[in-house]
Amino acid sequence: MTDCIFCKIVNGEIPAEVIYNGVNVTAFRDINPVAPVHVLIVPNRHIEHIRDPRAMEDDVLKEMFQAANEVADMEGIAESGYRLLINYGPDANLVVPHLHLHLIGGKPLGPMVAV
Ligand code: AMP
Ligand code: ZN
Repeated sequence: MTDCIFCKIVNGEIPAEVIYNGVNVTAFRDINPVAPVHVLIVPNRHIEHIRDPRAMEDDVLKEMFQAANEVADMEGIAESGYRLLINYGPDANLVVPHLHLHLIGGKPLGPMVAV
């Protein structure tokens, strides 16, 4: 999609700190990290969000989670642990309409709390 910021990162049209370049999946550091490790894992082709039927096609989600585990290994947080998160809709504050999996870790994150 021409006007999508994450498509542009995947295509190298705008800069990002890309740390994983797979055939179907790319990972780059979040520009506004909430923890020492905050990486976004995205499908290379444009899929709007987790409820987009294309998200369930092929092995898109499987490859995203596999990449997340690999990146966690690369970042040295496999032992200490990490959180994987997908936002959807206004209540979850989904901002960028290109499916992405947040990989967050590198410090104790505490329990999931009511907000
Ligand atoms: P979400 O609320 O799930 O849509 O999260 C979108 C995430 O994308 C936020 O954590 C932003 O900090 C991050 N983000 C937005 N633009 C960029 C960018 N150009 N490069 C890296 N991360 C970005
Ligand atoms: Zn896109």
